[in-house]
Amino acid sequence: MSAAQGPCAGAITLHKNDLPDHMRFTGSIAVDTETMGLNPHRDRLCLVQISSGDGTAHLVQLIPSSLDGQGYDCPNLKRVLADPSITKIMHYARFDVRILQHALGITVSPVVCTKIAARLVRTFTDRHGLAALCRDLLGVDLSKQQQSSDWGARELKPEQLAYAASDVLYLHDLWHKLSTLLDRENRRDIAQACYDFLPTRARLDMLGYDDPDIFSHRA
Ligand code: MN
Repeated sequence: MSAAQGPCAGAITLHKNDLPDHMRFTGSIAVDTETMGLNPHRDRLCLVQISSGDGTAHLVQLIPSSLDGQGYDCPNLKRVLADPSITKIMHYARFDVRILQHALGITVSPVVCTKIAARLVRTFTDRHGLAALCRDLLGVDLSKQQQSSDWGARELKPEQLAYAASDVLYLHDLWHKLSTLLDRENRRDIAQACYDFLPTRARLDMLGYDDPDIFSHRA
């Protein structure tokens, strides 16, 4: 079964602990993560989803390599995510970069973010969620039913895998559309400056400078 309907919904491959040695990516990849919750200090990283934009998704299920829940043995995955020649396309990259950098001890760069792009160009709406953007820009309906399911389960359910894959399968198409809008609205430069700052923003968040935000006038 597939949680996502559309021309892109394709094959899903589940890998345990790391990407296979032979696997290569070039250009750009869509990346998303599933975690036990929204607090990277507390909640472990469970799944990393990757798509090269060809309609297929590779899901890497991560099992902590130490008893305290920290440390993952996934050199191939780390190499791909830190590779400066591969652009990582994410939706709300601020969270995914933060959890990936914290859990894997890498710098995730370069990154582009479809949510930041949407905020910069779609100023006529306050709906910048992935489902809303897929519907408005691609005519694709994403199911968000499995969003808050138990990603720590040793055996993930087929509907969880389909949901997790759907979060990366449309990001290339979405980025393409938003990229055109960034040019149309002359927001390319400011978007790129935001993307360049993402690894630092993630570090600031991890250090506790997210609340109150270090850029905020408050307090
Ligand atoms: Mn997701």
